[in-house]
Formats: sequence, structure tokens, C-alpha cells
Amino acid sequence: MRLATLRHQDGTRAVRIDGAAAVEIAGFADVGQLLRHPSWAALATAADGARFDTPAADSTDWAPVVPSPSKIVCVGLNYRTHILEMGRELPEHPTLFAKYPEALIGANDPIVLPPHAADMVDWEAELAVVIGSTARNVDEQAAEEAIAGFSVLNDVTMRDYQYRTLQWLQGKTFEGTSPFGPVLVTPDEFELGAAIRCVVDDETVQDASTDDLVFSPAALISYVSHIVTLNPGDVIATGTPGGVGHARKPARYLVPGATLATAVEGIGELRNPVTSAH
Ligand code: ZN
Repeated sequence: MRLATLRHQDGTRAVRIDGAAAVEIAGFADVGQLLRHPSWAALATAADGARFDTPAADSTDWAPVVPSPSKIVCVGLNYRTHILEMGRELPEHPTLFAKYPEALIGANDPIVLPPHAADMVDWEAELAVVIGSTARNVDEQAAEEAIAGFSVLNDVTMRDYQYRTLQWLQGKTFEGTSPFGPVLVTPDEFELGAAIRCVVDDETVQDASTDDLVFSPAALISYVSHIVTLNPGDVIATGTPGGVGHARKPARYLVPGATLATAVEGIGELRNPVTSAH
């Protein structure tokens, strides 16, 4: 099943995407609100609300699939090949940091370069895992059952701010800069091993397989759940493969007029124009 949050004139609504048709899941303004209902999967499967055309792939009707999660936990250094090619040892524990919901934008919304941090804006294509039931102190098997589904997120990063200090938060959560969506795909329709790609203009800059993760989605959920309760709708961004702009020689960053495309095979694509704030 594929779920999305779509914008319309009075706000947003949660829908099930049945190919060319979007079916309203009545009573739920977005996928986050839907996931907080204990019977969300059955409700979404049975939904028979208003039917309308699925928005075009490049439409700005796609809102962030979960517009305001109670947490977005991000993971650094989690693709095996990328870590090894950087000459580092595989980590024993995941590197965690946070992003606030204000950072999220829809699948085709513009990325407006922030006026105070416009010069070193970089891409990080990531597989996002969305929580479907409360998880606290769970093992990996229970963690697997807590997954609502998978989506695509670009952890757009302001490298100048990120490296001002040892902590990364300030470079990772600029408002309105991280596209998330277009849909959530339930686990029965998605398997690790799907390709993950990032394309800037016409150049493929990241191309990897999602089965190269050091810490699997279930391992990450279990680990985070030992620290704090994961709530329905919470998001874990599972880390990015090699090919970020900051590591290139010469380094390359997003500039006004560029297009950032981020895709995970079997889920969908984010396609965001990059614009200047002026
Ligand atoms: Zn990242």
C-alpha cells in the first residue's frame, strides 16, 4: 500500500494512492495523524472516500508524507562501502543526530538557499523509515513490526554550519530545506536492496544499494527505542551513501537554478528546484 499527504485548498488530506487514483482516507488530515490511529492499516486499506486523480509526479500538491513527526532521528555514516572507501572502521554504534519538523518540505517544493548559509548546501539521499506503532525498549524483531513503511528523504546539509562545532545539529535542520516523500510504502511492498540515487541537474552523484546499511532499519529502531519512545509517525533517516558534494574534489554544492532529484527504487522520487532567497 502507498500512502501520501496531499495539499488542497483547505489544508491537507491523507490518501491511499491506487496508481492513477488517489483515494481520500476520510477523517485524517495527513499520514502522521492516520498512523496515530491503532487500526491505521485496516482503515487505510478499506478507505473508500473521495477519489481523484493522483497528482502529477512534479506537482507541488505532495506535502511531506508525514508533515510534523514528533521526532526525526538522523543517522550518520551508515553505508558500508562509503565508510570503507573513506578509510574508516565500521562503527560499533550508530551516530545519531536530530532534525526538527520545520526542516521538512514536500516532494517537489523549492529548496530556498538560506540567506545566512547559502554557500555550502549539500545533498544526502536517504531511505527514511516511518514508525507505525509505539516502540520503547524493543528488540529487533519487535522493531520490525513497528515499521509503518519507507519513504525518501534528502538530508540537505549546510556544511559550513555543520562543521562550525563538533555537534552537527545546526547544519542539519535549516527550516524548509529537507524534502520528504512523495509516498510511504508499506513493508510488504518494499525490500532492502532497492537502489538509492541522487542526481544534481543531469549528473548522478550518489548511486548505491539500500542493503549496504551497517545498521538496518530494525536495528536503528531498537537502538533508538532504548533511549526514547518512538511514536507513530516518527521518522528515522537511515544515512547517506558516498557521493556527497562536500567530499568531491573540487567540492560541489547546490546553487540557484539547480535541480536536486532523490529517488529510492520502488518508492518514488523527490525533485526539488534550488532557488535563491532574493
Ligand atoms: Zn544524513
